[in-house]
Amino acid sequence: IFPGSIDAAGQPATLGVLGGGQLGRMFVHAAQRLGYFTAVLEPDPQSPAGQVSHHHIQTDYDDPAGLRQLAQLCQAITTEFENVPAQALQTLALTRPVAPGAAVVGIAQNRIEEKAHFTACADVSGVSCAPYAVIETRAQLQAVQEKRADLLPGILKTARMGYDGKGQIRVKTAGELAAAWAELGGVACVLEKMLPLTAECSVLVARGWDGRVVSFAPQRNVHVDGILAVTHAYEGNMPLDLANSARDAAVSIAQHLGYVGVLCVEFFVVDDGSPHGGLVVNEMAPRPHNSGHYTLDACDVSQFDLQVHAMAGLPLPQPRQHSPAIMLNLLGDVWLDGSGQLQEPDWRPVLSLPGTHLHLYGKLRALAGRKMGHLTITGPDVASVKTVARRAAGLLG
Ligand code: ADP
Ligand code: MG
Repeated sequence: IFPGSIDAAGQPATLGVLGGGQLGRMFVHAAQRLGYFTAVLEPDPQSPAGQVSHHHIQTDYDDPAGLRQLAQLCQAITTEFENVPAQALQTLALTRPVAPGAAVVGIAQNRIEEKAHFTACADVSGVSCAPYAVIETRAQLQAVQEKRADLLPGILKTARMGYDGKGQIRVKTAGELAAAWAELGGVACVLEKMLPLTAECSVLVARGWDGRVVSFAPQRNVHVDGILAVTHAYEGNMPLDLANSARDAAVSIAQHLGYVGVLCVEFFVVDDGSPHGGLVVNEMAPRPHNSGHYTLDACDVSQFDLQVHAMAGLPLPQPRQHSPAIMLNLLGDVWLDGSGQLQEPDWRPVLSLPGTHLHLYGKLRALAGRKMGHLTITGPDVASVKTVARRAAGLLG
């Protein structure tokens, strides 16, 4: 699908995205820079992506008329969050190329299937997931209580719809496990052994329709209260042997899925007695990811550029990072003063620091924990990036 092309009926080449959040917004920006028109399907009238797109189809994600309109407008379609109904992607795929496809999004939407996939490619990827058990029924709960003491202390996670640490309860005993399962509504869950994490990292991979794969170097991520807070993206952010293993594993996971588009694979670094620790694969996101936002400012092609290239069947260039970077997430808390009152942050001190790149998502209401934007810091070397990041973090409170 050639950027900037116009068909016989006078329609410009248009790319579509299901979902109107910040990932959709940055996708739209990348597509528009190449000359594509864009269409966003999103029920929220004020969404970050809907605000900036040529077309905003304001319906539910599974609305047949909305989906039909999206397919009519667009030559290819992607998604910006994994909890879109896989059925919607399937419907769109009947008439248009959809990347990533419904089947792989379905796997990533469900921790049970996701872990089964990781386990199936562990031989090739060289990395397995944390020890776990599936709990979908009372009988399975009882069996785990009786026979899987090895998984305690552990984390009970809902199989579906979890994000940013939501839908998870930490449990120490068999009794707590039963209570937690009830609290989560008795829905399908996995109980995962609590591992001694020394770090977390993620790898962004892009795979084209022709099977070509490119990837970014692994980012090291720091979470606070289950939400990504800081991403460290520079040489030396983690031991090289682990970084290489994570990158290889992410590529083989994408290959094994027959994935098309940008995929983010998250890993734990676990203290296993070895000098650098061991790698464990945690989860994957079938889309660009918060931990890859630094690529907008620190790389010659961003994760959003690669999503555009992959879905449109354009060549996938191997990205090159031209600057070390640290990304700070800006949650709504930055907008709230000590007593919970809304107060517009004064960005001037932060923007006067060298190498700061402020990205705000156009969300009209700040809420605690809500992702409002991010700040990427680039610079000539790692030491100066770290210094500026520390100063910026101090200014943002
Ligand atoms: P989400 O879908 O909310 O991102 P994750 O499974 O990634 O859920 O869990 C959120 C965070 O909780 C992780 O980034 C990690 O810090 C912590 N965590 C999750 N699983 C484990 C585990 N098995 N052992 C230790 N910490 C964990
Ligand atoms: Mg996660």
